[in-house]
Amino acid sequence: MSKSYKTLKSRLREVAILQSTGALLSWDQETMMPPDAAGFRAEELSLIASLAHRRFTDPAVGDLIAACETDAVLISDAEVVANLREIRRDWDRATRLPAELVAEISETSSLALEVWRQARIDSDFAAFRPWLEKHLRLQLRKVECYGVPQGGEPYDALMEDYEPGMRAAEVERLFAPLRDAIAPLMAELIGSSHQPDPAPVKVKLPGDRQREFNRRVAEGIGYDFRAGRLDTSTHPFTEGVAPGDTRITTRYGEYQYVESVYSTLHEAGHGMYEQGLPKAELHGQPLSEAISLGIHESQSRMWENQVGRGRAFWTWALPIAREVFGAALGDHGVDDYYAAVNVVRPNLIRVESDEVTYNLHIMLRFDLERALVRGDLKVSDLPGAWNERIEKDLGLVVPDDRRGCLQDIHWSMGSIGYFPTYTLGNLYAGQLWETVTAEIPDLEESMARGEFDPLLAWLRDKLHRHGRRYSAPETCRRLTGRPLSHAALIRYLEAKLRPLYGTGP
Ligand code: ZN
Repeated sequence: MSKSYKTLKSRLREVAILQSTGALLSWDQETMMPPDAAGFRAEELSLIASLAHRRFTDPAVGDLIAACETDAVLISDAEVVANLREIRRDWDRATRLPAELVAEISETSSLALEVWRQARIDSDFAAFRPWLEKHLRLQLRKVECYGVPQGGEPYDALMEDYEPGMRAAEVERLFAPLRDAIAPLMAELIGSSHQPDPAPVKVKLPGDRQREFNRRVAEGIGYDFRAGRLDTSTHPFTEGVAPGDTRITTRYGEYQYVESVYSTLHEAGHGMYEQGLPKAELHGQPLSEAISLGIHESQSRMWENQVGRGRAFWTWALPIAREVFGAALGDHGVDDYYAAVNVVRPNLIRVESDEVTYNLHIMLRFDLERALVRGDLKVSDLPGAWNERIEKDLGLVVPDDRRGCLQDIHWSMGSIGYFPTYTLGNLYAGQLWETVTAEIPDLEESMARGEFDPLLAWLRDKLHRHGRRYSAPETCRRLTGRPLSHAALIRYLEAKLRPLYGTGP
């Protein structure tokens, strides 16, 4: 093998080891760390991030990439070509950002995050406003460094960090028909005289039993506890720390124990994608990394929604729940559960929203942040614009900014261009689900028996093991035979929800 390629890969592995160390420190911060350690932890994380950045953006790495790109033997191997293409992309982007800008964004994020936390509690947008204005200025400087993709707009340069190759115009093309299909479906369901009863899942259950149930569910669907953990945090997340070390978290409430089950399923979906990436051999190389946030989210959403909110899932899980919770669970049957976990109702809060109305939350955020980046909307006008849209789209009145434009953490971290990936994930999940259920016709029956391996094996083979070898659009075409569209998700939602609401077959 080429000496340059070997040296390049070992350099990337060192960068990945630094990043893994940072990931472990972040995980600890969210789950275990005592509050007084926050200041020093920020120093540790920032030093590690800058060491990794410097090690990666070293001009010597650029020379190694260039040497590999002209090596005749290497470029005859399609897998190596894909690896080099992605390494080149990452290196070009990372070297375009000056170190002082990276540092300023990182420092602004940690300060703005604290201001946002308090502003949200106080519902005080005025306190957060200057920080969001600063973030916006910094993000626009980032756009200048990256450059606007040909034929595109500044927002595209920011979205590229989360969904490579995706463009705002394409998001708009996908979202418009989705909105046109969701609005009447929502009206039809909400207006129906038959409404599913949410009561079966509103039951008070002890935390230690909930932990036991979540663990059995995660293990049952295929999350590997020999290479993973399940812990507790305020905001559930997944950290793909290192080869053989993927960590997920969930949260617990006394009531609505199924919310904890669904955040476990969601994170286990992310976690199984991480566990399926070929990190053992290729840690640090793009061929061992996730394609995009949208694809990552397709994995979490599929296990949470298409699997977890299905009848087959509860056919398998309800007897386990009875075993774990005993009489406290009540005597509701599978159909009661199936109906209760599929209630559609507009909610002011994105993360508490159902499968249908959730996407309206994302469209609103996409439109508003795109307008901010274009300069069509001033930060000071954001709360008004937000509230107007919530009323128009969801028919709800926003009582305060805490339940309005201050509810999400993303903007406090300067993450602009991130939100669309959630709905893109829903669209990918819908389309992948339609394909996998056609290719494995008895999948429902298997899942009802607690056999989730056929689904996981399909995802491992078609998606997980390839890392970033294929782009998100290529992956979608390879797996489903079609480019991404809203149609499959809508077909899935209508087929499931209409019978539950008595509005269709
Ligand atoms: Zn997620």
